[in-house]
Amino acid sequence: MRVLSSLVVTITLCIPIASCTPTPPPHALPGAVTVTILDVGQGDAILIRSPEGKTALIDAGQSASIVSKLEQQGVSSLDLVVVSHHHADHYGGMDDVIRAFRPRFFLASSSSHTSEPYLKLLQLVRDRNIQAISPLEVPRKLELGSVVLTVFPQAPNDPKEENNNSIGIRVDYGTFSTVLPGDAQTRERRWWAHRVPKLCADATVLKLAHHGSRNGTDARWLDLVRPYVAVASLSKDNDYHHPHPETVDLLARYEIPLLRTDRDGTVTIRSDGLHWQVFTHPESSAEWPVFEPRGENRSRGDRPSKPKSSVGLININKASKTQLRKIPGIGQVLADRIIKGRPYRSVDDLVRVEGIGEKRLTEIRPYVRVR
Ligand SMILES: [Zn+2]
Repeated sequence: MRVLSSLVVTITLCIPIASCTPTPPPHALPGAVTVTILDVGQGDAILIRSPEGKTALIDAGQSASIVSKLEQQGVSSLDLVVVSHHHADHYGGMDDVIRAFRPRFFLASSSSHTSEPYLKLLQLVRDRNIQAISPLEVPRKLELGSVVLTVFPQAPNDPKEENNNSIGIRVDYGTFSTVLPGDAQTRERRWWAHRVPKLCADATVLKLAHHGSRNGTDARWLDLVRPYVAVASLSKDNDYHHPHPETVDLLARYEIPLLRTDRDGTVTIRSDGLHWQVFTHPESSAEWPVFEPRGENRSRGDRPSKPKSSVGLININKASKTQLRKIPGIGQVLADRIIKGRPYRSVDDLVRVEGIGEKRLTEIRPYVRVR
């Protein structure tokens, strides 16, 4: 029998608070959730911290370097680890993570796609007595303190394309939410959209599926998820040419700012459950705007767009050089030129600045204002 998409079975894992409190990085404040897309090169590794200090890691990148990256984030223990799917750019560093942090729970799919290193990882999970859990045929809720992770129902196994066996997760804290679709391609995303549209819809942040590949994002998906901001996890000059220009152009048309780990480094989004703010590392990011919560009057038919209030956007007539450099694609030279070219009567005036063409203007438009 098919289960109605509205039927949600709640299974709560009582994950105890970590025994030793990690030293939080400057942007991890009590009372806030943080979602950190770690710069692990070509791959995924996403750290979630609850206001209570509980931690989950979704994917572990390709290599052991993930351990030191987590330590740099002040992580000393993990409550839950997830392997979104059985590709090495997602689980490659997981055995080292398990040895270093010994998480209590290990979430992975039972996809038929496997390999020798993945089977070794499963053996390690068994050897260390880590409790293995998996997605169900219905949404599965995991409580990470006051943050709720909802694991999407497992799509039918795709024996030809492991990306379509990805575990999808929605992270909710107050009105703030993040959708983490692994590397899901069109087939799996359409299945989710049909079976659990509410889990995909109206997220604050979307981690782009498949590192910004053209097969990881399409208009139908953005119409449903309607994120305020998208993040792609990838390495510079990668062999796959991620992010694909089609994805970048599509996001620009939807006026969804794109943060990229190859360009912005590690990206953290912090939320008190209402407001949210982006931090990038290694750059100090104290001056990123604080975004307002989603407007109540945003009707279902609307296209995703920047927040209605201009509060939080960067004023190109007044911002300091440091603030201007928070705009994606604006480095020291362009920031200087923007300051030199003031005043601007409209955002379009930025094309007067040498080095800012129509394409770059489209990319930076969602971040800026003139008054
Ligand atoms: Zn991948």
